[in-house]
Amino acid sequence: MSYSAPKFEEKYGNFINGKFQDPIDGQYFENHSPVNNKLLAKYPRSNEKDVKSAIEAANNAKHEWGNTSAAERASILHKIADVIQDNLETFAQMETADNGKSIRETMKADVPLAVDHFRYFASVIRAEEGSATELNENTLSLIINEPLGVVAQIIPWNFPLLMLAWKVAPALASGNCVILKPAEQTPASATFLAEKIAHLLPPGVFNVIHGFGPEAGKPLASSPHVDKVAFTGETTTGQLIMQYASKNLHPVTMELGGKSPNVFFSSIMDKDDEFLDKCIEGAVLFAFNQGEVCTAPSRLLIQEDIYDEFIKRVIERTEAIKMGDPFDDSTMMGAQASSDQHKKILEYIKIGKDEGAEVLTGGGAAELDGDLGDGFYIQPTILKGHNKMRVFQEEIFGPVLAVCTFKDEAEAIEIANDTMYGLGAGVWTRDAHQLYQIPRAIKAGRVWVNCYHDYPAHAPFGGYKKSGFGRENHLMMLNHYRQSKNMLISY
Ligand code: NAD
Repeated sequence: MSYSAPKFEEKYGNFINGKFQDPIDGQYFENHSPVNNKLLAKYPRSNEKDVKSAIEAANNAKHEWGNTSAAERASILHKIADVIQDNLETFAQMETADNGKSIRETMKADVPLAVDHFRYFASVIRAEEGSATELNENTLSLIINEPLGVVAQIIPWNFPLLMLAWKVAPALASGNCVILKPAEQTPASATFLAEKIAHLLPPGVFNVIHGFGPEAGKPLASSPHVDKVAFTGETTTGQLIMQYASKNLHPVTMELGGKSPNVFFSSIMDKDDEFLDKCIEGAVLFAFNQGEVCTAPSRLLIQEDIYDEFIKRVIERTEAIKMGDPFDDSTMMGAQASSDQHKKILEYIKIGKDEGAEVLTGGGAAELDGDLGDGFYIQPTILKGHNKMRVFQEEIFGPVLAVCTFKDEAEAIEIANDTMYGLGAGVWTRDAHQLYQIPRAIKAGRVWVNCYHDYPAHAPFGGYKKSGFGRENHLMMLNHYRQSKNMLISY
């Protein structure tokens, strides 16, 4: 079945104080679809004046919103989830038009998961309680949780609506007002959501500011009038944002890049059964859903005695991937998110070849017919090399899988941990000892064992090392959006 891009207005505004507003200096930027490079719409090229106006609106709203009951906020979050659910197809088409990823992903995974994140935080906030203990017969120790106030949230383009949900749901549930800056490449779904939920929230509680990082993101992250900065994006951008926030001593959470190892032990080939098929899918599918996933298993580590047979099957499966029109629901791999991203990935493939990596399959741009010929497509590519190469160490953020071998458990762990990142990892084995001991030894915030690429709302997610700090999802996320007050009451 084939879908299409939804109809966009010619231009949109920032969403500030409960309504759409033109940018103060009247500047807009054009947003093109990576599917076919056609213009979708124009969005505000905001600057510090627009940011200031959103910060004022949020500060004006924070007292009232912060004093709503958890039950009221939960009920509104459920209504936001209903809005996304009721408009699932439109959101999915919007995300595919904006980002280029396949409609089967946006429709079956990204948008339903966003719904679930709003429902999850609507539920856990009601189960939360402060606590009171008696210190002695005359003194009570009372702990209450208070919202931080106004939260700046800056997100990337790879999961536009889902990254919004990960950040906005817990922040609103905890009683904060939000100023969200979506990535300039994917402004559509945050805009559409703002329009659809405007009637549900008091003005100023949820604000969306469009524009570029240095012009709109920087004044937002630097402002002394926000109380926290939550960021998801590249490690180098995270470092800048920490510098901005440090001047105000504002807390930050950082969800940054990754170069995740996916480790396959010999025992997977003990039998030719369904589990082995699952291993092959596990090596291929999540590396090649455009590869634009922070936890993409972009380093494939195979135990040397099964390398020849396993890689043969991995290559066969990779070459069977259907790539093409992202709006066709049988397409597995769509377009890369932007022309810049497309260029960067091709440069990395060249770097790999220049470093001496062997191209096992793919290795260049994919040429598609018709309108799609103007879009940004890359062949699923596998490069064989060693872990010191740049294509093994640096985040390419594209459909490029770097493969190497290892001798034994110790070497597998050494290679897995040998990058500056520590976001995700995969371990595949039939051996009960390895099933627990290898993930324990890998320095990453999320290790999938005999599976990959699930992101349930109730499982904490975040990085080790230069992949960031702080966690998203799970009820522990609430503590990143509030502060606890202890009262010692003597009576
Ligand atoms: P990016 O860092 O270029 O941009 C992210 C956001 O930061 C955008 O909204 C951008 O406009 C803004 N920004 C850029 N420069 C800024 C500045 N100087 N000041 C303030 N804001 C600024 O990242 P990207 O290319 O949009 O996204 C890809 C990256 O995101 C990858 O590294 C990926 O691994 C990472 N990511 C991490 C997670 C996670 O949970 N750890 C999830 C998704 C993506």
